[in-house]
Amino acid sequence: MTPPTGRTTASSIIQSRIRDIQEAARGVTKQYPRSYILQCIKEDRFPDELWRELGKFGLLGLSIPEEHGGSGGGVLEITALNEALALAGVPTLFLVVTGLGRVPIVRHGTADQIAKYVTPTCTGEKKLCFAITEPNAGTNSFAMSTLATPAAGGGWRLSGQKVFISGARDADFMLVVARTTKAAEVKHRTDGMSLFVVDMKTPGIKLQQLNIQVETAERQYMVFFDNVELPADAVIGEPGKGAKLMFEGLNSERLLAAGAALGLGDYALSKAVTYANDRKPFGKPIGSYQALQHRLALAKAEIEAARLMTYDAADRFDNGEDAGAHANMAKLLASRAAVAAIDATLQVHGGYGFDRDYDVVTLWPMIRLLEIAPINNEMLMNYVGEHVLGLPKSY
Ligand SMILES: Cc1cc2nc3c(=O)[nH]c(=O)nc-3n(C[C@H](O)[C@H](O)[C@H](O)COP(=O)(O)OP(=O)(O)OC[C@H]3O[C@@H](n4cnc5c(N)ncnc54)[C@H](O)[C@@H]3O)c2cc1C
Repeated sequence: MTPPTGRTTASSIIQSRIRDIQEAARGVTKQYPRSYILQCIKEDRFPDELWRELGKFGLLGLSIPEEHGGSGGGVLEITALNEALALAGVPTLFLVVTGLGRVPIVRHGTADQIAKYVTPTCTGEKKLCFAITEPNAGTNSFAMSTLATPAAGGGWRLSGQKVFISGARDADFMLVVARTTKAAEVKHRTDGMSLFVVDMKTPGIKLQQLNIQVETAERQYMVFFDNVELPADAVIGEPGKGAKLMFEGLNSERLLAAGAALGLGDYALSKAVTYANDRKPFGKPIGSYQALQHRLALAKAEIEAARLMTYDAADRFDNGEDAGAHANMAKLLASRAAVAAIDATLQVHGGYGFDRDYDVVTLWPMIRLLEIAPINNEMLMNYVGEHVLGLPKSY
């Protein structure tokens, strides 16, 4: 087979923008392939060498304007990077959370905040993670209880708890979504939410590593904030109005997640094709059996369709259009296509699919995760049902 290329068939301009990024990324992943990331996971360490190299080639600065130390381009370019890394079997959750976290800071932060929290992430010198999920609120982020209250001197005091925070140990800063007015005291559930950038070295922050079975170098943490003192300039944009800012970032997160799904789906298929061409229990390659071949072909077609939608949505986002519906649908379709691809890949490998050394069963949790995080697919279908089709809200 022609190996999956990760190319879109959308407009030629979009195609060439994607191709440029993917070529640059391939230069890095040749040096730091999947075996490197698996070694980092085994040693429980952040892939520093890979990160520095991505920074050196300006890839971490994608989507950030050059005036802020970035490499320009938009969500389309950073999504293409995320796809390219996944296509090489080197998915990184950090790119998703950094890509998301930088959006509200660049759009609504002051020049000082951008220089302090965004510019150093473009070289890889500093890392930014993102914390919204709480143990009791779960998907219903508006029910969060982490609270920041004004402190003497214009600063804030932050108390509460976040869960599943990827890369919290390795990050220098965390973009935290917190309430500045309790949920019970606001007129509308979106009121009273604020975004804070928290320096991870601030006293009062404690991390507890979770036992999550997903093969990425970033581990997940429960994060406790106990009266954490924040300076006045830790808040991004207007206090109490953070929900809108957060949603702007979440659309880019959906697209980054879609990019990861597309790349991982194609990566899984390439493993399936190699194995299916080689394995001949009845004398013919198992890839000639249509029960397997059609499953792989359908997964490939679904990945390509999702790819068109993903880059179309990214282009809309970068052009300032309301890309919510398209970004949600893109992540929904890409994650489903990727799950179809890994499931077919597992079937092709028979019993060997469960041997960790074949690195098929090890790919499955990361791909399956994308149907649940950063947002579960049911919420995306709720969005389409309500906002695209005009159906009543169910929850
Ligand atoms: C590996 C990993 C990394 C993560 N990284 C981060 C991170 O860096 N930062 C961060 O803030 N969070 C992170 N998360 C959290 C992730 O975003 C949440 O797990 C996810 O949003 C779902 O929340 P929950 O687990 O509380 O599920 P719940 O809210 O308990 O939902 C459980 C299930 O119920 C269904 N459901 C829930 N609500 C509805 C509804 N209204 N309609 C229909 N069905 C519904 C869905 O099927 C959902 O999967 C991560 C999670 C994992 C596992």
